[in-house]
Amino acid sequence: MRKKQQFIVAANWKMYKTPNETEKFLKEFLPMQKSFSTKIQNVFFIPAMNLSVAAALLNGTNIFWGAQNIHFESEGAFTGENSPKVLKEMGAQVCLVGHSERRSLFSETDDLCARKMKSAQGLGLAPMLCVGESLDERKSGKTFQVITEQLKNSLKLLDAQKKFSIAYEPVWAIGTGQVATSKEAGEAHLILRKALNELIGESLAEAAPILYGGSVKPENALELSNEDQIDGFLIGGASLKTESLAQISQVIKI
Ligand code: PEP
Repeated sequence: MRKKQQFIVAANWKMYKTPNETEKFLKEFLPMQKSFSTKIQNVFFIPAMNLSVAAALLNGTNIFWGAQNIHFESEGAFTGENSPKVLKEMGAQVCLVGHSERRSLFSETDDLCARKMKSAQGLGLAPMLCVGESLDERKSGKTFQVITEQLKNSLKLLDAQKKFSIAYEPVWAIGTGQVATSKEAGEAHLILRKALNELIGESLAEAAPILYGGSVKPENALELSNEDQIDGFLIGGASLKTESLAQISQVIKI
């Protein structure tokens, strides 16, 4: 059994919530969060236009927050992009890289993810890299090959001494209600841990959090969190309501 020092409960709000809704949610959640185990690390990935609302409410708390996407340069002629330098100055600690919606809808490649990981780490942000197979890839037995390649290619510019994490998110489980079994998730996490081992050595690979994402809800959170290799959750739908996010945070026993 691996000894887990903490369990990450990360909310990915996608393109939901206005500034007012962000403020209302966080003001409701902050007092709830005080009753969670100190081993639960709550994280919020906030839509870009609401980041300053999150900064005002979360800076100075023990909750980490950040953006769902960053550009690989810190500034420049990149109309409409999110600067990681600005994110850092606002007080963020984290950012998502390579979410499957960015990969499939905005053509993000492993090469681009690698540059974003480097840029985030260079500015002192801890990037969370998402990897995961499609349903077709799983059905044709390619899951382990696909996620290993995504991991290795997206981490080719990694500074393993600096903070980062991985989210295993099978594409077929995101927003579908179809959750991976703890066995399926555990097997994939083990493959990712082994690949990390080869890339950065055993002790750093062991210390890198690997989260599961894909239809996590209060009802399935306990069983999934008991899986040895799962160090946290990345949660979309169930993170949009304070009650369900709080329930997930409370049900986990480590
Ligand atoms: C996600 O957006 O990363 C996600 C896992 O969504 P959901 O929990 O809704 O499947």
